[in-house]
Amino acid sequence: MTATRPIPLRYPEDVEHLDGAARGELRVPVCGSCGEAFWPPSPVCPRDFRRDVEWTTDAGTGRVHSWVRFHKRYFEGDDVPYVVVQVRLDSGPNLTTTWTGSGDPVLGEPVAVSFREVGDGVWLPEFGPGGAGVNPSRELAARIGPVGVWLSVLAEVPAAEAAKAAQVVEDLGYGALWIGESPAHKEIFTNATLLLSATTRLTVATGVATIWARDAVATEGATQTLGEAFPGRFVLGLGASHAEAGRGNGHDRPLTALREYLDVLDSDRYQGPRPDRAVPRVLAALRPRMQELARDRTAGMHSFFVPPAHTAAARERLGPEPLLVPEQAVVVDADAARAREVARKHVATRLALRNYVNHLRALGFGDDDFADGGSDRLVDELVVCGDPQLVAARVREHLAAGADHVAIHPLTGTPGVEPVLDQLRALAAEGGIRS
Ligand SMILES: [Zn+2]
Repeated sequence: MTATRPIPLRYPEDVEHLDGAARGELRVPVCGSCGEAFWPPSPVCPRDFRRDVEWTTDAGTGRVHSWVRFHKRYFEGDDVPYVVVQVRLDSGPNLTTTWTGSGDPVLGEPVAVSFREVGDGVWLPEFGPGGAGVNPSRELAARIGPVGVWLSVLAEVPAAEAAKAAQVVEDLGYGALWIGESPAHKEIFTNATLLLSATTRLTVATGVATIWARDAVATEGATQTLGEAFPGRFVLGLGASHAEAGRGNGHDRPLTALREYLDVLDSDRYQGPRPDRAVPRVLAALRPRMQELARDRTAGMHSFFVPPAHTAAARERLGPEPLLVPEQAVVVDADAARAREVARKHVATRLALRNYVNHLRALGFGDDDFADGGSDRLVDELVVCGDPQLVAARVREHLAAGADHVAIHPLTGTPGVEPVLDQLRALAAEGGIRS
């Protein structure tokens, strides 16, 4: 009689994958040099033979590439017949696994991962139908990982410099690049197109595209254009911005305006080529009612200018599924006084905007905190000044409070993109900052 089915051995190159499976995560190696995910695990990239292998948490979705039904009982206890399926992950590589579906797989059908203990505490991924049914917020959270970057400077520097900066962000391993929009700088969808074109795997998110800048029909067309051209790499962040943004198309009733805007986006009038999977939308949301709209109508929310306490309250309101992405301003600088000065300038600019002041009042700050560009307490709550370890600690605070992804926003006292990138390099070198 044949032996019982053996348990996989823990070869060194498989440990990351097996430990991930035990936690319910599909961990897949990615080449740091060419950016391609590959399978099976190996210390070298199968495409360019570089020894620059990193690991990423895969969204665990893909499509059936091939399958076969086994009738022979190779091991005692095999429940024949059983189906083995080869899944092409959305991230690229093919994975051969057990099929959990009740019927036969259909070539090309969308699938999602689940995990099963096969004995001795060893867990393995398996796949069944349902990729299309995976919660898009959770899928997005897995795709962009816990740490990204928020850069306003890319709207202000020449395209060649911005492209190079986006490549640095990608190479440093940040999961997403959030870009801003202001009436005095680059148009955000055009800029997103340039940055997506300049990179190969980085997710680019508008953080945020203001609804007063273009009507919903134009936004929908731009979103579908980018989603189709750059599958899985674009996120639409929308917001009502603030009353002082100076566009002059009326800022009363931002909630109603956003609701109506989403109605148009949902109306399905776009007839051009679409991405396989809908581009995720998030809303800029500081106050409770906007957070509820984000929860009810989109993949989640993006918050800006918030301490971890705000993140905790937002998570409570959202519930477990919606995406929660706070921006975190930082000044990585060993000179504490200089850093504080840069931070206070950033805070002072926003204290001139009514919606930020109202939001901070709701968090318990008062007039004393708003005087003279912001009290030390206020500045410290909103901007982390100091070494990379301090920034890593604040990122972890947001994550512990319920954030899925923290968009790090380096502030500098000098113009241009290099001082910003220097901070991002210092942070990437700090172990605690990345997954
Ligand atoms: Zn490679």
